[in-house]
Amino acid sequence: MKYIDEFNDPELARRLLDEIRATVTRPWALMEVCGGQTHSIIRHGIDQLLPDEVELIHGPGCPVCVTPLDVIDKALEIAARPEVVFCSFGDMLRVPGTGRDLFRVKGEGGDVRVVYSPLDAVDLARKHPDRQVVFFAIGFETTAPANAMAVHQARRLGLANFSLLVSHVRVPPAIEAIMTAPACRVQGFLAAGHVCSVMGTAEYPDLAERHRVPVVVTGFEPLDILEGIRRAVHQLERGEHRVENAYPRAVRDRGNPAAVRMIEEVFEVTDRNWRGIGRIPDSGWRLTDAFRDFDAEHRFDVTGIRTEEPAACRAGEVLQGLIKPTDCAAFGTSCTPRTPLGATMVSSEGACAAYYLYRRMTDSPAPVSSAQEMNPVG
Ligand code: SF4
Repeated sequence: MKYIDEFNDPELARRLLDEIRATVTRPWALMEVCGGQTHSIIRHGIDQLLPDEVELIHGPGCPVCVTPLDVIDKALEIAARPEVVFCSFGDMLRVPGTGRDLFRVKGEGGDVRVVYSPLDAVDLARKHPDRQVVFFAIGFETTAPANAMAVHQARRLGLANFSLLVSHVRVPPAIEAIMTAPACRVQGFLAAGHVCSVMGTAEYPDLAERHRVPVVVTGFEPLDILEGIRRAVHQLERGEHRVENAYPRAVRDRGNPAAVRMIEEVFEVTDRNWRGIGRIPDSGWRLTDAFRDFDAEHRFDVTGIRTEEPAACRAGEVLQGLIKPTDCAAFGTSCTPRTPLGATMVSSEGACAAYYLYRRMTDSPAPVSSAQEMNPVG
C-alpha cells in the first residue's frame, strides 16, 4: 500500500477483524501506548468493532497529559515575565495549571507564542537579542531530537538568550511502571510507532521477556491498529511474548541513529514525575551539564511553586488505564475542552478529549463546534 486512504480500506479492515475473531478464544486486555492511537481507535470505533474478548486499555502516551503540574506552573510563571518570549506548541496553551493556563497569561499581557518547531524559537532568539526566548520542550522520544537540535543550534549561533523548559518523558520506563503496578491488567502492548521510528525496538525485548507480554510496534491508521491487535492476539493465543514490528514502513529495528546521537549529545536520562501517575525512575531526559546554560529552570528562579490539582479530576486513573474517561463524573459536564479540569481533556492526544469528540453522542457524529473547541489556536 502506498497512499494513506488505503490504510482506511473497509474491506481490508473487515478481513483483519474476521481474522481476529477467528483467532481469539478467551479475554485479552491490550494497551495502546500512544494517545494518537487512542484517538484513532475512538474516532473510527475500532474498540466497538472488536470481539468482546478483546479489550483496549488506553495508555499514558500523551506528553501534554503527563507533563507534571509543577512544570506547567513553572511555565506560567516564566511566561508572565516581561523580558520573556515564551514559545510552545499550541496544545499546551489551554492545559490547566494551578488556577490559570498559558492563554490566561497571554491575555494578561505575557508574550506567549505558538510555534510549529523549536527552531522557530531559535530564530526568534536570533531576531530579538534583547529578549529571553524560552521554548517549552515537552514530549516523548519523538520530539526530543528536534528539541536537542534547537539547543545544539542555539549554541552554534552563540545565542545566550535562548533556553528550554524541559519535561521530556520516555516510553519503556512507563511500560515497566504499568506492568509492576498492583492493579495492572495489561497482557499485551501496541507500542508507539513514531517513538520506535526514532529509538528503534532494542529497548523492548527485555520488557517483553521479563513481563511475558507481546509488544507489537503499531502505527496510527485504522488498518495499522487492527494489524497490531491481530498480531498481539495471535501471540497471546499461542502463549508467545515477542517484539514484532507491524509498522515497517516507518520503523527500522535500529531506529534513526542520527536522531539518537543528537538526543544523547544534549540530554541525559533522569527520573521524572508524570502528572496523575507519580515519579517513574529513569523515565525522562534533562539537559546534560554541557548544555545546562540552556536550561530555563536554571536561568529563571522558579522555586517555591505550590501546586493544586482539581479534586474532581481522575486523569491519573485514565492515564493508567484504570478507568475510561466516561467513568469520571465531571466528563462532559464541568469538564469539557472549553472548561478543562485536566490535561487529558485538552490535548489532541488526550483520552478524555477523544471520548468527548467522538463518543459523547453515541448516535451522531461529533458536532463541528467540538472540533473547533479542540483547536482554539488553529
Ligand atoms: S473528564 Fe476531565 S475531570 Fe474527568 S478525568 Fe478527564 S480531564 Fe479529568
